[in-house]
Amino acid sequence: MRQEDILVDNFGRTVNYIRISVTDRCDFRCVYCMDEEMQFVPRAKLLSLEEIAFIARAVTELGVGKIRITGGEPLIRRNIIKLFRDIGQLDGLDELVLTTNGSQLPKLAGELKDAGVKRINISLDSLDHDKFRRLTRVGELDKVLAGIDAAMETGFEKIKINSVILKNRNDDEVPDLVEFASTRGMDISFIEEMPLGVIDEHDRAEAYYSSDEIKADLERHYTLLPTTETTGGPSRYYRIVETGTRVGFISPHSHNFCDSCNRVRLTCEGRLLLCLGQEHSVDLRQVIRSHPGDMDRLKQALLRSMDIKPKGHEFDLSAKPVIFRHMNMTGG
Ligand code: SAM
Ligand code: SF4
Repeated sequence: MRQEDILVDNFGRTVNYIRISVTDRCDFRCVYCMDEEMQFVPRAKLLSLEEIAFIARAVTELGVGKIRITGGEPLIRRNIIKLFRDIGQLDGLDELVLTTNGSQLPKLAGELKDAGVKRINISLDSLDHDKFRRLTRVGELDKVLAGIDAAMETGFEKIKINSVILKNRNDDEVPDLVEFASTRGMDISFIEEMPLGVIDEHDRAEAYYSSDEIKADLERHYTLLPTTETTGGPSRYYRIVETGTRVGFISPHSHNFCDSCNRVRLTCEGRLLLCLGQEHSVDLRQVIRSHPGDMDRLKQALLRSMDIKPKGHEFDLSAKPVIFRHMNMTGG
């Protein structure tokens, strides 16, 4: 591939990874992700599955080798398996991965694997039914546990648990979550809460629980060895000597990961976000709807978007929110 045909920003970072939010809707209402009352994007403004597949083809032709399908809850979008099948067949794609809350996996795990999904991330913040319900507002722990079982039976190459830890809400569950992952041969990543979107349920600064605190909690039970392994995302990884489990830390506050950023995001309305914590974006829906089927024009828009990819972001939990889009729009 010629150098001018790949996505490189003004800081020399090559973009080879895209996260695509296929819907902003969800069957859960996690307290850090959404407000209780949410306005969702009207159908006419949503990219169709065909439009998403077209953009996915364009980015893979520009050197993107990894696509993560996310949301909202991606698996509640109607006919979503067709999108996985279409993307799974793209030349040049090395990895098609998924982030899900797990609730639909009992139904869809087999079809996802057949479509080419090799690795999946399943979000799980608590193993206690009541706490799980309070954190997700409406979610049922048993459904997610059944989803995890279904994924294990299906035999994906890798299953990773993602946990957002909030002080005095689920910080006491860190060792139990690690044990849950270890006994099932899964990896686990802990995520610091990010100030995306306005929420009323808690004060994000008060709920902040740092990766270093989580690591210290774990070191009371296990020996953690740093590893240079990477999955091409923002996690820093450690191995637990006693169990072999890989534990990741996604630390947007305490260990900013912007210098090595290799990714962009596509919202369900077709906005290409150049940075998780900034509003720089390009309206790809406008590009493809005003010039349907024009692959060259779309690729030019993608290549030009690199000029506005910002150097990075700084989150400040004590300040007023500056990013008004919630994580379900952003595509975590
Ligand atoms: N619904 C799917 C799920 O929950 O896995 C996919 C979308 S969700 C937005 C993707 C990831 O973002 C989840 O692991 C979730 O815990 C995380 N997340 C949501 N809001 C967040 C926030 N404000 N800060 C940090 N992580 C967040
Ligand atoms: Fe839904 Fe995922 Fe957001 Fe929870 S984190 S509300 S499961 S999109």
